[in-house]
Amino acid sequence: MPELPDVEIYKNYFNHTSLKRKIDKVEVIDSSILFNTSIQKLSTNLVGKEIISTSRHGKYFFGEIENGKYLMVHFGMTGRFDYVEEGSIPDYSKVLLHFSSSFLSYICIRKLGKISIVEEKDAFIEEKNLGPDALSLEWNTFQKLAKKKRGKIKSALMDQKFIAGLGNIYNDEICFQSKIDPKRKISSLRQKQLKEVFKNIGHVVDMAIKREADPDKLPKSWLLSNRKEGKNCPRCSGKIKKIKISGRGTYYCPSCQK
Ligand SMILES: [Zn+2]
Repeated sequence: MPELPDVEIYKNYFNHTSLKRKIDKVEVIDSSILFNTSIQKLSTNLVGKEIISTSRHGKYFFGEIENGKYLMVHFGMTGRFDYVEEGSIPDYSKVLLHFSSSFLSYICIRKLGKISIVEEKDAFIEEKNLGPDALSLEWNTFQKLAKKKRGKIKSALMDQKFIAGLGNIYNDEICFQSKIDPKRKISSLRQKQLKEVFKNIGHVVDMAIKREADPDKLPKSWLLSNRKEGKNCPRCSGKIKKIKISGRGTYYCPSCQK
């Protein structure tokens, strides 16, 4: 499932392939992907225009159109971009942005992704009640928000209204690297532990982006490379355990995460 690092990589991919290029045609193959937007509205806002800059907040991608509005893309469970210079339309393409001799496809195998035209980016983020973006999070903000937050640390990190961008796999990694049991109540964490969590949010996300969010390229010392029940913990002699938190499969080492 795309998390912040994946969306950051898709944003960079968009910049390399599709930024500042005139869109000749918008082709909607599956309109169920459109959110608060019609095919007509998508075309009116995009055809004959360019995306002049891109940004990201949490798992949301924004392409600023030259008319001041935004193309918003959410990648759901399986969404991604594919730029095609020559060749046929990739399977599961939902929307195509056609340029003079190429196109960008938004692909989504399962339907949970969303595409929309958004008038105001900041108003959209506010409307969605999204917390600060995990990549630009500051310690003071995190500390303030964490003091007000209730529930398990893992559930808190999953909550996009608390911090935007983190998902299941990287949150397990953040708890692992912070040596904190994901079941721990956030209110029970000492200042030092909270600081450790904050530090590891930045560390895990930065490293994941640098390594192209490719599990094969991430350090073997990470939990991510050892997400299997009963596997040896890469840090101690413990065995990895799987539990459920907020309905999501959660991996941790009971021996070194306290
Ligand atoms: Zn361990």
